Order: sequence, then C-alpha cells, then structure tokens
Amino acid sequence: MQAPESSANPSDVPVPGTVGTRPTRVMVDLANLSHNLAGIRAHVGVPVMAIVKANAYGHGLVPVARHLQARGVDQLGVAFVEEGVQLRRAGVTVPILVLGGICARQAGQFIAHDLEITVSSLDKLRQVEATAEAMGRKAVIHLKIDTGMERIGVHSYSSRAFIEAAAASRWCELKAVYSHLACADDPRSPMTALQLERFLEACAHFERIGAPMPLRHLANSGGVLHFPQTWLDMVRPGIALYGVLPDPASRRSIDLRPVMSLVSQVVYFKVVRAGNPVSYGATWAPAGDTRVVTVPIGYGDGYPRALSSSADGRGGQVLIRGRRHPIVGRVCMDQFMVDIGADSAWNEDEVVLIGAQGDAFIGAEELARMAGTIPYEIMVGLNGRIPRHYVGGPEPQPR
Ligand SMILES: *Cc1c(COP(=O)(O)O)cnc(C)c1O
Repeated sequence: MQAPESSANPSDVPVPGTVGTRPTRVMVDLANLSHNLAGIRAHVGVPVMAIVKANAYGHGLVPVARHLQARGVDQLGVAFVEEGVQLRRAGVTVPILVLGGICARQAGQFIAHDLEITVSSLDKLRQVEATAEAMGRKAVIHLKIDTGMERIGVHSYSSRAFIEAAAASRWCELKAVYSHLACADDPRSPMTALQLERFLEACAHFERIGAPMPLRHLANSGGVLHFPQTWLDMVRPGIALYGVLPDPASRRSIDLRPVMSLVSQVVYFKVVRAGNPVSYGATWAPAGDTRVVTVPIGYGDGYPRALSSSADGRGGQVLIRGRRHPIVGRVCMDQFMVDIGADSAWNEDEVVLIGAQGDAFIGAEELARMAGTIPYEIMVGLNGRIPRHYVGGPEPQPR
C-alpha cells in the first residue's frame, strides 16, 4: 500500500486530531474511480448518472462527486435532498437527481437548490407543481414508474393518466422517465426482461399522446454489466463505479478496479497460552500457545461484529505480511484480535481488511460473504469515525 498523497476527512462529524494519525483508514483510489467511470462509459455509450448516495457508498460524498465532475460525469444521483444540498453547497454544479420518495413539504428545497425531483405519483406531481408555481420557478422532474420492484413509483399498468398529467404540466419540466430493476445483478434472472418490457410499454404512451419522449433510464450496475437492452438513454451505476460487483452471480463484463481499501496497523502483540480464551464472552481459546495481535477497529467503526469467529470455524480474516489470518473471539466496539499462529508481526505492521497486500487480496465482496451480508452494506457501513485518505487524484479541497 503506497503512502497517502493527501488526507481529508469528509465525514459530517470530524474527529479533531485524528485525521492523518489514526492507523485505521479508508483509502480511496481516485485513479481507479476514473478508470471505472471511463470503462462504464465506453461500454454503454450513453450518458452516465453516477450514484453517490450514502456518502458515495462510504467513499466520501463531496470528494467523490467533485472528482466525478472533474472527469466529466453527466449527472449525479443521490437518495435524499440533504445529500443534494450538501453537494450544491460544496460547489458541485452538474445535474443532480434525488432518487428517493419525497414529502410535499420538501419540494421547495429541491427547487431552491436546483435539484431534480423523483415524482412517483399523481398526487406528488400536483404538490410539486403547486410549489413551483408559488415560487415562480420550474421544477425539473423525473417520473418514476414501478415495473416490478413494488417500492416507489406508479405501476406501469396504470401509468397513463400520470404520464398525461406530467406531459401537460406547466410548472414541471419533464426531463426523464425511469424505473428500477430488482434482479439485474443476476444475469440469468428473467425478471429484468419483464421489467424492461413493462417500462417500454409505459413509455410508449408518450408517443400515443403525441408528447415528446423524455430521457428514459433504467439500468443500475447489474443492468450495465449484464443487460445492454436496459441502457436506453442513460445508465445509473452505483457499486460498479466503485469497482465492486453487485452480487456473487454478477459477471465482470467490464474491467473494474476496487476504489476502496480498508487498512489498519497492529497496535499490540502477545502470546496467548493454550486454553486461555480471547475477547468478550470467552468464545474462543487456542489449542496450543499462539501469537495474537490486536487491530484498532471494531463495530463502532462499522466493521461488522458478524466477523467474530464462530464455533464452526467461520469468521473474518485479515492480511498481515501478505498472509491471511483469522479473527479470533468477538469483534469489540473499537478493536479485535487476530491469531497469527507461528508467524511473526510487529507493532505498526500494516493490516489490510479490504484490499490487496502482496499477492493476497480480500475484496469487499469476500468480506461481505464472510459477514453474511452484501458488499453495499459493508462499504456504506464504514462510518465517519474512520478517516478517508485520497490517492491517485488531485487533492479534494477540504471542506
Ligand atoms: C442505488 C440506486 C442505483 C444504483 O444501484 P447499484 O446497484 O449500486 O448500481 C440506481 N438506481 C436507483 C434508483 C438506486 O436507488
């Protein structure tokens, strides 16, 4: 792991004095982010809306958005209006769509900050229209059609009145119509073809009523990787942009490089004698004398407690000196222990929790499998207590 060229803590709760000194850190490789954006673009050949919700999947909302903007991304997508406002305040100027469902009282905030609104029902269309008219400023909207996710959006089979009202709206500028795929991370799922068919059938209503066709977007990372028919006029990759596959069944149809690594350092070494249990609950003890090191990260940072060792031999692993070693006993709030057996390790040796060390590698996908979850949850779970260090790009301006 190369030394960080720069460091900045983009979290909303900065911890004074820890930036640059805490041995535990998330390394964000902006060169790999650029590589993935370029690869996705070349693959799909349509504009890209980069999804940066949830602190850019744990990579740091503002630095990632700034970097993507500098690389010419067409549009950004976030989940909540607050994320969009944060980006605007940080000087990000590209179009930003807020993907989530909204409450009527939030509409004014969107318009004031030039954020594009997901309109997911006829009622909400009316509410946004009323707010826009009162403000004397048009709202830019994307209509949400539900083609099988059963989350937000008007069912495709009853979307005609919705489409007609949006097409006729005076105070809403209808920029796009979109839907979300439920199963695209699995290339064999028949659900995607069904959703695409429903979506295109709903969109056909614009032609039927002689209204101009807005942009149509449908593909998340799974769609980008597996289903070219879903690319349409724009794609919305999230996890693939960060170099991680959405699902074990996903195909690596684009050369993607992991953007995030999670590293720490050994802060303690001891020999644990045979039979003496390690950590809370005394759930694990070595059969013979062994060497155990302590790593200063825990579930208080979002490193899952589910990576504690279990009686059936499952649990997390880390890399030290290019070799895999198991976590032993329970993961604590701020630290955990690793059995290095007969190997040696010194204080301040690098510990890789996500990423490469020598020839060894633990991806976010593998860590997720070990923890019984998905890589999304692992990455977004790493919280603001862990400083982010940015390498491979111009230094993101500190906030
Ligand atoms: C989160 C999200 C995406 C990105 O999903 P990935 O699986 O990370 O690519 C795309 N569209 C919508 C509506 C989302 O909520």
